[in-house]
Amino acid sequence: MSEIKPTILVTGGAGYIGSHAVLSLQRAGYGVIVLDNLSYGHREIVKDVLEAELIVGDTNDSTLLQAIFSERDIAAVMHFAAFIAVGESVVEPAKYYYNNVSGTLNLLEAMLEAGVKKFVFSSTCAIYGLPQEVPMTENHPRDPLSPYAASKNMVEQILNDFDRAYGLKSVAFRYFNASGADPGGRLGEDHNPETHLIPLALLTALKKRSFLSIFGTDYDTHDGTAIRDYIHVNDLAMAHVLGLEYLLQGGESEVFNLGNGNGFSVREVIETAEQVTGSSIAVIETERRPGDAPVLIGSSEKARKLLGWNPQYSDLYTIISHAWQWHQQRHGS
Ligand code: UDP
Repeated sequence: MSEIKPTILVTGGAGYIGSHAVLSLQRAGYGVIVLDNLSYGHREIVKDVLEAELIVGDTNDSTLLQAIFSERDIAAVMHFAAFIAVGESVVEPAKYYYNNVSGTLNLLEAMLEAGVKKFVFSSTCAIYGLPQEVPMTENHPRDPLSPYAASKNMVEQILNDFDRAYGLKSVAFRYFNASGADPGGRLGEDHNPETHLIPLALLTALKKRSFLSIFGTDYDTHDGTAIRDYIHVNDLAMAHVLGLEYLLQGGESEVFNLGNGNGFSVREVIETAEQVTGSSIAVIETERRPGDAPVLIGSSEKARKLLGWNPQYSDLYTIISHAWQWHQQRHGS
């Protein structure tokens, strides 16, 4: 007889990384309830593709959260719901602190009231600021350069304090560049507006956009463009399942980087996207984007050692191929 696994509340499960995590949880046999306010998430992904239960609501709605935790037997929470646009966060910091910090506090309070004390959190390598060493480990000094990054850093601080005071156990994952799509082609990256390099390159290949801007060609890197560590979204999702299981087995609170440990320049990403799509991608070279670091590469040795995490799709060509499959299906004519 197969073991009955507990139910996990996944906030932001209608979004890019959250939806892939829901699929990984389902594949691992967990029950899933998605809470998403659908401000950016996609209802049809949860209802039709994942066929998961969807509660449409906000983490700032205490009454709703109390009802969810009192009516359901929830073992742990995976918290993806957040605003993620770095540039927007500089212009509208209140929006980011209200949603990303106050919403999370509200969620944690409702969890504690209900006695739920296991929490998996989406953090970001953006909390490190400019790299002082590469690859960056979890011990790298933290210097968040935007309200977005600061909001994630504040939540990590809250988690630290809540463990000490209330015994809430958490795993915070600091993602490098989430990319790719489920190889099955049913899920993918669909932000509106889109700001990320790989989807923008693919939309340009599909002629949905007339050109792709390269933000900065004067970095001190081998080809002058910025270098990032692209990590497949399914590998991120798998890390969340491992992090959850680590907590369910009584693990202590931890933070983990999630990256491949390999860097690719913007030009290398574009060249690989051209190989994958068989189309040339029109580019315009522009100024650096404010706040962008020249090189961000993560060491994920800790997640490999402690969680047994073993990324399956480290190759950039494979990552972009999976994203391409999704984009063709979603946007192709
Ligand atoms: N980038 C670019 N043109 C774009 C979008 C991004 O040159 O239209 C660059 C960006 O400056 C960074 C890299 O591509 O060096 C990855 O950016 P993305 O927004 O995908 O992720 P981030 O590193 O900001 O999390």
